[in-house]
Amino acid sequence: MSHFSYQDGVLHAESVPLPAIARQFGSPTYVYSKAQLLQNFRGYAKPSQGRDALVCYAMKANSNLAILDILAREGAGFDIVSGGELLRVIAAGGDPGKVIFSGVGKTVAEIELALEKGILCFNVESIPELHRINDVAGRLGKRAPVSLRVNPNVDPKTHPYIATGLKASKFGVAFSDALDTYRSAAALPHLDVVGIDCHIGSQLLDDAPLLEALDKLIELIDTLAAEGILLHHLDVGGGLGIDYGTGDNAPVAIGDYVSRVFARVDAWRAEKYEGKPIKVIFEPGRSIVGNTGVLLMSVEFLKPGEEKNFCVVDAAMNDMARPALYQAWMDVKPVQQREGAVVKYDLVGPICESGDWLARDRELAVEPGDLLAMMTGGAYGFTMASNYNTRGRAAEVLVDGDKVHLIRRREEPAELFALESVVK
Ligand SMILES: *Cc1c(COP(=O)(O)O)cnc(C)c1O
Repeated sequence: MSHFSYQDGVLHAESVPLPAIARQFGSPTYVYSKAQLLQNFRGYAKPSQGRDALVCYAMKANSNLAILDILAREGAGFDIVSGGELLRVIAAGGDPGKVIFSGVGKTVAEIELALEKGILCFNVESIPELHRINDVAGRLGKRAPVSLRVNPNVDPKTHPYIATGLKASKFGVAFSDALDTYRSAAALPHLDVVGIDCHIGSQLLDDAPLLEALDKLIELIDTLAAEGILLHHLDVGGGLGIDYGTGDNAPVAIGDYVSRVFARVDAWRAEKYEGKPIKVIFEPGRSIVGNTGVLLMSVEFLKPGEEKNFCVVDAAMNDMARPALYQAWMDVKPVQQREGAVVKYDLVGPICESGDWLARDRELAVEPGDLLAMMTGGAYGFTMASNYNTRGRAAEVLVDGDKVHLIRRREEPAELFALESVVK
């Protein structure tokens, strides 16, 4: 069930009409539904109940403190990719002991911070990184828990920018090098080798590639066990896709995917380890927050042309980068359904770049001043926003039933250059 729906021809977030939000907070504004967020998270958490499993929300998808706080209260862990994200988790009341740290370029300062805060695990992506973590841990008199991000070379059949598990990818350790890399890790004095992980890509509608990658991790865990390297956890990464309204196949339901992972893991543990369980970690981002948010915007001008008609809106590529960055197709809905001629428009923002488009060839009946909602914009929306063209980032609002909470106020232009100084 979606928590964004039309009621009497007006698009609502839960029971709040979006025009009321635009009146109160202006536009463009990101609007999130708390009920949708909880529904998605519980899709992972419910089948995990009573098991040794942890859902580490990949917070780069949407890292607003209010979102993190809600998920932390639900028991979520967090998958982070920077020291800044760790500080956000802590500021939101999240438990550093449930944090895993991913990414190919962890700095010495970030590793120190993570060790001081006592994170659950570093997901290590290269041999030099293993040495760096070992050195920092030794210097601080600590032991660093590590997992290797293995590249299972499975084709996720997704956009090349979001495929991460192929041989040519910058991420992870090649499957063929994994055994040797584990041996090196096990020989380093300040590391505890605790796990294995992978993350093969994003927006996967079918879970077959995810399960194929899981099988390859299982194979490697068995090989390592035969050498006496016993792992405590298996991290299957994130990547589950969501329905952007493109009319493609529907994505696999979260609960179905999670149940299939557990079924495979249980059958394998029963066969090879007398049923002794292993901790299973998930790193979902998009599938938790994607359909939790919309980007509310208003129409400034209609600009008909010989070849194209443009609908110029007050949101732009700095607010929502996915179309410009990945040619992503995002659904655009009128907030108030109106009668009138339907015209085909390209939806563009005011930024001085031809790449500044949000949607192309959309049939809309709109007039200047109308509100539009870019649907399924909760993931990789606000977190990828920039201040290009000295545009303040949009406000963020969380709806909970009939209540509306401002969770990030709009940036004022003066704040955007407050850190700068002229040379006297
Ligand atoms: C981005 C990322 C995720 C989340 O991916 P989604 O497609 O949003 O689920 C998980 N793990 C790692 C290492 C990532 O970089």
